[in-house]
Amino acid sequence: MTVQGQGEVTFAEIVERLARGDLPAGVAGCAYRLPGDEVPVANPPRPMTDMNILPAANYDLIDVEPYFARKGRRQLDYISSVGCYYRCAFCADPFVYRRRWSALEPPRVGEELEHLWRRHRFEEVAFQDETFFTHRKRVVAIAEEFLRRGLPFTWTATMRADQGYRLSDEIFALCVRAGLRRVMIGVESGSQQMLNWMTKDITLDQVMDCAEKCARHDLGAIFPFIVGFPGESDEDVEATLELIKRLRSMSPKFETPIFYYKPYPGSRITDQVVQQGYRLPQSLEEWARFDFIGSSGPWVSREKYERIERFKFYNRFAWGPETWWRRPIQMLARWRCRRNFYRLPVEKLIVDRLKPLPKLS
Ligand code: SF4
Repeated sequence: MTVQGQGEVTFAEIVERLARGDLPAGVAGCAYRLPGDEVPVANPPRPMTDMNILPAANYDLIDVEPYFARKGRRQLDYISSVGCYYRCAFCADPFVYRRRWSALEPPRVGEELEHLWRRHRFEEVAFQDETFFTHRKRVVAIAEEFLRRGLPFTWTATMRADQGYRLSDEIFALCVRAGLRRVMIGVESGSQQMLNWMTKDITLDQVMDCAEKCARHDLGAIFPFIVGFPGESDEDVEATLELIKRLRSMSPKFETPIFYYKPYPGSRITDQVVQQGYRLPQSLEEWARFDFIGSSGPWVSREKYERIERFKFYNRFAWGPETWWRRPIQMLARWRCRRNFYRLPVEKLIVDRLKPLPKLS
C-alpha cells in the first residue's frame, strides 16, 4: 500500500479504513495491491490540502533530544511549506506535488516555533521546505513575526537563485536581523546549457547575484551541485568546477557539495534514461539497496570520477576557514585549484588515510 503526494490526509483515511476492517477503495492519493493480484489498484490523486487546515506537527510524539545529540547541535527541523512551483527535470518534486505549493500563514509559523522553542530550547531552526523563499511577502512577514516575538534562535532556509535575485538587499538585511544565518541554493551546474536542458529556470548571473548578496550580508550559503548527468560533456563538468571555485573563493561561509546524478522515479530525465534502457530498482528491497549518494552512477567514467573526487578534496581545503594547522595544505590546495592540477594527490592520500571523509559530498 502506498501514499502518493502530500500524505497527511490520505494516511489518516487509510488508517481509519483499516481500523474498520475496510479496504482503502476510493481513498484519493492511495494505491494498493490485494493479495494474489498482479495489478495494483490506483485511486485518483488527491488535490493539495491547504496546510493551514491541518493540525500542527506533534513533536511530543518523538524524543527530540537524541536528534539534537546526533546533529551535534540544538537544531530543530521544521516544515513551513510543502511543494514547489518549479520543474527541474532531475527532481521528483514536480511529480510528487504536481507543481503545487502550500504554506503555513506567518502568524502560525511564529506561534508554533515560539511554542516549540519554549518546550525544547533549540538554538536554530532548519526550515526543511522545498523552497522557503517562494513568496517575498510571506518571507518578510515571517521575519517580522520572529522579531515581534523576540525569538532568540537563528534559522536556515532553502532559496532558489531566481528568488534570491529578486529579493532586495533590504529584505536580506531584515531576514538576517530576524536570525537568518544560512541559505541553501541549488545551483546544480556551472554550464548554462545544462541548466537550460534540465529546465532549472535560473541563470548563472542570478547565482552570482545571490552569492554577492549573501557575502555582503555575511550569510552562510550552501550551493549544491550535481555532476554525472546523462549527456553531460567534459566542458560542462569543467564549467561546474570553475563556478564552484569562484563561489568558494567569495566567502569562507560558502559550501559547494558535489553530488553524482541519480535517477529519481517520476522525473523527466529518469523517464528518458529508462526509455534508453536504464533499469530502475523493481522492488522495495531493490530500492532499499539503491545507492543514493555513495557511487558515481553509470554516466561518469572512472577517470572523471577520480578528477572530481580530487577536485572536491582540494577545493574543500583551499577556501575553507584559515587555521594554522590547515595553512600549508591550504596554500598547496589553492595552487592546485588555480592551475587545475590534481595529479599525484599525495596530500589527499595522506588525509584520506588519517581521516576518511563521510561519503556525502
Ligand atoms: S530542485 Fe528544487 S526548485 Fe527544482 S523542482 Fe525540485 S524542489 Fe523545486
